[in-house]
Amino acid sequence: MVTSFASNTIYNPLYECMARDEITALQARRMKDVISRAYNHVPAYRRKCQEIGVTPMHLERLEDLRHFPCTVKSDFRDNYPFGMFAVPMEEVVRIHSSSGTTGKPTVVGYTANDIQLWSEVMARTMGCAGITRKDVIQICYGYGLFTGGLGVHYGAERLGATVIPISGGNTKRQVMIMEDYGSTALASTPSYALYMAEVAAEMGVRDRLKLRVGIFGAEPWSEGMREDLERELGLKAIDIYGMSELIGPGVSSECEHQCGMHIFEDHFYPEIIDPETEEVLPPGSRGELVMTTMTKEALPVIRYRTRDITSLTYERCACGRTLVRMQRVTGRSDDMLIIRGVNVFPSQIEDVLTHIEGTAPHYQIHVRREGTLDELELWVEVTESVLKDEIRSLESLSRRINAELQSVLNISCRVKLVEPKTIERSEGKAKRVIDHRQM
Ligand code: ADP
Ligand code: ZN
Repeated sequence: MVTSFASNTIYNPLYECMARDEITALQARRMKDVISRAYNHVPAYRRKCQEIGVTPMHLERLEDLRHFPCTVKSDFRDNYPFGMFAVPMEEVVRIHSSSGTTGKPTVVGYTANDIQLWSEVMARTMGCAGITRKDVIQICYGYGLFTGGLGVHYGAERLGATVIPISGGNTKRQVMIMEDYGSTALASTPSYALYMAEVAAEMGVRDRLKLRVGIFGAEPWSEGMREDLERELGLKAIDIYGMSELIGPGVSSECEHQCGMHIFEDHFYPEIIDPETEEVLPPGSRGELVMTTMTKEALPVIRYRTRDITSLTYERCACGRTLVRMQRVTGRSDDMLIIRGVNVFPSQIEDVLTHIEGTAPHYQIHVRREGTLDELELWVEVTESVLKDEIRSLESLSRRINAELQSVLNISCRVKLVEPKTIERSEGKAKRVIDHRQM
């Protein structure tokens, strides 16, 4: 069974099929090690532990991890740029940083071993997606400080696939190369993939593309978006997950069964907490994902609060992997919109839209405060075919959107239909929410 999904790969698939008690034993050993390393070599983490009176001695079993302090994004900012590193700078061979939407970006570092580890988990990600050394993979994640491009790149080379390191942008050229070089695999954000599909259709080359699988991540997306991508690009769309603080892409990935992302649990230990109380929730609960990197050297991160909302399934997957699966991330606990008391994630709005004919999955959510109430205005692109009908159909379309949002999400909003291609396209992460309340 092991070889059935890994016969073409050179990474070690055994770690993906261990019995649960073996995984737990391995994690317990590695967890002790990483807690000691963080405590001994990262003064900021040691201080946090001392404040609540815990030391590495308090970790006897894995369950004891919940007594250790969480790490949050602001810890990186407070110790900017290199204060969270656990090794001297001469051990660090690579620096990356997060997209940094507000304030200083988060800086992360890697030792030579960390780069090996990263390549390994990215090779496994591609193995999960069914990519092999026979594939030609076009990597449209940005290269540079962003972890996406180089992360996928090293993993693809490790796997032995043929890499086209094209990075993001220049979309017509992307499509031309996709056609001419016969790319069979695509790595990009889902929003950029959709844009490339649109451009490919305009250029009239869609039927000549050879794409068969796409690994999409770095931003939340919906099942509806998956259907669109699979239909428009003729590929299997695989959800992949990661973040710079933990390593970059390569934390978890869907397999070909597309039923949740397998977490590479021999390196990353997941917990689900209640974002309000930080209490660890029982298996199966939805809540905020908290992750500990057990094997990283330069930047060991203990109980990192990802802000991502998901749940974990420990049932064995049809693919044979025993690794726990995390469900599709529906949003972040901090980009959650609260509209008149109702919690809404942009991805839920997207899911509603993708099921309404006549709308394109290009949208923007504008939040304004009028008096004391938050008002939500949803800009949605209509398809060309809707424009050809007369005004009445536009009216009924916006009524339909409103009714669906009301019935599915229990929110009402102003719907503004806009012409095709008027909402700004992204070459990386799409900006879905424009919050005028902070401006
Ligand atoms: P990266 O540099 O890997 O994009 P960032 O730190 O900039 O890392 O962003 C990481 C965040 O991106 C995650 O915390 C999560 O919110 C989002 N993200 C990454 N992959 C996915 C995914 N597959 N589904 C939903 N959100 C994702
Ligand atoms: Zn699986």
